[in-house]
Amino acid sequence: MTTDSIEAADRLAQVRDAMGRAARLSGRTADDIRLIAVSKTQGADAIRPLIEAGQRVFGENRVQEAESKWPGLREEFADLALHLVGQLQSNKAGDAVALFDVIHSLDRPSLLTALAKAMDAAGKRVPCYIQVNIGAEEQKGGCAIADTPALIRAARDADIPLLGLMCVPPADVEPAPFFALLAKMAREEGLERLSMGMSGDFETAIMLGATDIRVGTALFGERPAARPTPGSGRGMIRNSRAG
Ligand SMILES: *Cc1c(COP(=O)(O)O)cnc(C)c1O
Repeated sequence: MTTDSIEAADRLAQVRDAMGRAARLSGRTADDIRLIAVSKTQGADAIRPLIEAGQRVFGENRVQEAESKWPGLREEFADLALHLVGQLQSNKAGDAVALFDVIHSLDRPSLLTALAKAMDAAGKRVPCYIQVNIGAEEQKGGCAIADTPALIRAARDADIPLLGLMCVPPADVEPAPFFALLAKMAREEGLERLSMGMSGDFETAIMLGATDIRVGTALFGERPAARPTPGSGRGMIRNSRAG
């Protein structure tokens, strides 16, 4: 094994251990929770060791970036699933439907229309999450809380398979109340899945009912171009092997 693949296996094991601990506190096991490895900004060489360590579900936030690296990896490895976790422009709906297995960022009627059209044209239904702007942040993607029930109805009317709700809570504040609110909204709408929790807060998210967590930094290390997020990936990145 190379250093890269040992490190990847190590990080994956640590994340899965933490998932297991949090899952037990909510009466579940790690296997009840889908770990989406968010590989944005990571090249194929960084992704491959994680696949070799057993990870099969990946997330990207940009359609074009995903198009440049995943077709090749999918030829190498047959059973991968690819999730879109970032904002989607309506004019990329067709590309997204062609490439992704799940879309987490359905957040407005115009995108819903574009996705329904793209799915009809492709003869393929791609399951979606409705992204909720849970902290009512001006610059953030996501449907306003008050508009979410109508968007859910519209998605059902357009025959878009809805898995659940997704959110990215505001940075640098306690995320638990936002996770709890998303869980309550999903319950009220009869939606079963919750895509919530990232490197810094996935344990909290799992304890509050997350079924899908989206983890980048804790699996790949700090992203080169990323804004540093205080505390993200804390305790996950070991370099003590030499000592
Ligand atoms: C980047 C990203 C993540 C992963 O964030 P980390 O803090 O690196 O785990 C999760 N969800 C979305 C929508 C992202 O853009």
